[in-house]
Amino acid sequence: MSTSPEGPGGRGRREGSTAGVEAPVRTVACANCGRTNRVPAAAEGSPRCGNCRAPLPWIAEAGDTDFGEVAEQASLPVLVDLWATWCGPCRMVSPALEQVAKDLAGRIKLVKVDIDKSPALARRFEVQAVPTLLVLDHGRQVARQTGAAPAHELRKWVDESLSASHGAADPASGRH
Ligand SMILES: [Zn+2]
Repeated sequence: MSTSPEGPGGRGRREGSTAGVEAPVRTVACANCGRTNRVPAAAEGSPRCGNCRAPLPWIAEAGDTDFGEVAEQASLPVLVDLWATWCGPCRMVSPALEQVAKDLAGRIKLVKVDIDKSPALARRFEVQAVPTLLVLDHGRQVARQTGAAPAHELRKWVDESLSASHGAADPASGRH
């Protein structure tokens, strides 16, 4: 599933991470116009629809080797999902987190970390239980919680974390 053929519009920008591994790219349908866009795991700024310029949800995966590039160097605040394949609550919280990423498109980036594949990150964040959720702002941890929660609660938690981190709530967040 990781081989993505060069479809129409795939311009294949490959500068940047030249560690021999191509940065993974996801395709995301624009909620505004329906256009399918290719969204890289790591990039400058935040992804926007190539057609209508609406912000796109940004969902990426990272591990020990690329967490810095994908999460800590992101220009948006990052919601980190430290999860494991054997964890039932993780499977429940995953779609809720993706919903939050869609609701907060252009404001946060969701980065999923499989702790069994990323032992250094699991140690660094002292993961005792999964899912452990973090909010990072330019690599600095501003919030943390353990356990699953429904999408609306997660969104509220993220909103409050970002407000506390930036000192003021964003009045433009009243999109419905
Ligand atoms: Zn669009």
